[in-house]
Amino acid sequence: MKSTNLIWHNGHLKPWAEATVHVSAHALHYGSSVFEGERVYATPRGPQFFRLADHTRRLFSSARVYGIDVGYSPAAIDEACHAVVRANDMSSAYVRPLVFRGCGGLGVLPAEDVVDVAILALPWGSYHGDARENGADVCVSSWNRAAPNTFPSWAKAGGNYLNSQLVALEARRGGYAEGIALGTNGLLSEGAGENLFLVLNGTLLTPPTGAGVLVGITRDSVITLASSLGIPFAERELPREALYYAEEIFMTGTAAEVTPVRSVDGVSVGAGGVGPITRTLQDAFFGLFDGRTEDRWGWLTPVIPAVVPDRESQEATIHDRTSRQKPPAVEASA
Ligand code: PMP
Repeated sequence: MKSTNLIWHNGHLKPWAEATVHVSAHALHYGSSVFEGERVYATPRGPQFFRLADHTRRLFSSARVYGIDVGYSPAAIDEACHAVVRANDMSSAYVRPLVFRGCGGLGVLPAEDVVDVAILALPWGSYHGDARENGADVCVSSWNRAAPNTFPSWAKAGGNYLNSQLVALEARRGGYAEGIALGTNGLLSEGAGENLFLVLNGTLLTPPTGAGVLVGITRDSVITLASSLGIPFAERELPREALYYAEEIFMTGTAAEVTPVRSVDGVSVGAGGVGPITRTLQDAFFGLFDGRTEDRWGWLTPVIPAVVPDRESQEATIHDRTSRQKPPAVEASA
């Protein structure tokens, strides 16, 4: 991983090497973290966050599901995201806010409610490399997405990514770029780290939000762009075989952006190459960042330049919570 100089950790910007946690941190043992992945794009108007408010909203919703008290206001988290990009002097970045149960004890529910918050900003180009241009070769995973009412898929929680790791690992072992998981009902769900779109008979389709998917912000952006371009669209439950019938397939995600799929299980998609609807949506999506697509939705926000806060607002937004990080209480483990 390419490091950057500074990480925002519990209210402070710290050197990369100093932003560490104790091995007793609850999240390390039980996956009790919620997080986001956001991008800052280098645009003609300077570095801009893409849908920061929506990411922050999802972060707080994920935390609410698990009863994790973020301890900062959404505005303070937004400001900290800006601060870490600014402090590292980055023109583009992948920003990773992470909220996790820290050293409050090793009970499944920790004795003390200790929550750490960290925000990293990393340089990160195209997630699937040249697949953005040529398409990715993917497979259907033998692993299913979690059943409804087990692991809430809407919450972007660390523990959910054990399932994603199994899907991605199997794909990598088989020589594929990514794995697509079915739900426990055998219907299409999503990729290990992306939502899934198909074009079938000229209509853009994606599995519904109840199909065990993370309700992706890129997914929503693509749906919005498709509607603005007059592309017919529906959320629809889809069987696995739709993958082999589809004229076009692509995956969306903050890291993956809009990545075309070239083949599924060795079967080439449509006529091969990147299909016209995928290309149109890719152009519209990436056009947001080079000015070709008008941002009619207020999705972009410039990284705010440094301001010297007065003492009062500084205390309100960046309060030091290190005092809450006590050594763990000794108690029964899970
Ligand atoms: N599904 C999963 C499992 C993911 O990890 C991601 C990436 N965050 C997505 C979908 C896409 O979500 P978004 O567009 O909000 O990044």
